[in-house]
Amino acid sequence: MRSSGIIFDIKKFAVHDGPGIRTTVFLKGCPLRCAWCHNPEGIAAGPGIMVFAGRCIKGCRDCLAACPRGALKKVRGIILLDRGLCDRCGACVEACPAEALRSAGRTVPVCEIMEEVGRDIPFYRESGGGVTFSGGEPLSQPAFLRELLLACRARGIHAAVDTSGHAPFSLFAELLPMVDLFLYDLKIIDDERHRRFTGVSNRLILENLEKLSRAGAPLAVRVPLIPGVNDADVDLEAMAAFCAALPGRHPLHLLPYHRGYAAKRRRLGLDAVLPAIAPPSSELLERAGKIFAGNVSTVIIGG
Ligand code: SF4
Ligand code: SF4
Repeated sequence: MRSSGIIFDIKKFAVHDGPGIRTTVFLKGCPLRCAWCHNPEGIAAGPGIMVFAGRCIKGCRDCLAACPRGALKKVRGIILLDRGLCDRCGACVEACPAEALRSAGRTVPVCEIMEEVGRDIPFYRESGGGVTFSGGEPLSQPAFLRELLLACRARGIHAAVDTSGHAPFSLFAELLPMVDLFLYDLKIIDDERHRRFTGVSNRLILENLEKLSRAGAPLAVRVPLIPGVNDADVDLEAMAAFCAALPGRHPLHLLPYHRGYAAKRRRLGLDAVLPAIAPPSSELLERAGKIFAGNVSTVIIGG
């Protein structure tokens, strides 16, 4: 276990990222740019700086003193970061006494993650849980992911991979024997609209899903339900028809969009992409569930 990778979070006692109680490890880097992304801090491959302006202490200037590039200033008590000057060295994060500046991403060796994960093995055993590798897109760090999966295998820990599906199929084929469950995102079937909302074509994603299903991979299909993006009957019916045509029958999870992404984007200095939208109503969830029912093995609301 010599390799290291960049992660941006480890979430303990997760209950929406696969069966049972799980530890979710979030790997950095993603080829997609989903307009609704809940984890925008996971998109860039390298570390970033998040600014929690509300935590900044009146009168403090510790980070300004620590910054070697003059990238920080305070204007009327508000901390401002010039991302054009910042080289993400992290000195300000170390200096801040209030956690108003935080790193989105750190390099961690596989052994350190496994040490953390290993502490919760009794909970996994008790609940039928395990570890989920998410992101970002975990397959964007293939060597790191491979070692993590091998380490889980060696310790008998159930391992799930939460993926956008946007990676060469050869990678999926290589990892297949080490993965107990793929949580596979399906967003929009219409390719032009998929490009518009995610920045990439869905051709590779749909092909990989079909191939994994044909290979008998343990799969759960996950549809993030986003009002105004993919909640029209025509979108839902197209996804349901795609699932029905897969070689295998798989469970389908409907993941209701929730607010919160805009605040995260602000902390990263990014503008919101979508207008403010409300989470899906219970009527919409019910309608979507009915459209998928009969085309998949089971419909589950949530992760
Ligand atoms: S990460 Fe480094 S360069 Fe960027 S603001 Fe902080 S101290 Fe300055
Ligand atoms: S070190 Fe932290 S609390 Fe102090 S000015 Fe900088 S961001 Fe604010």
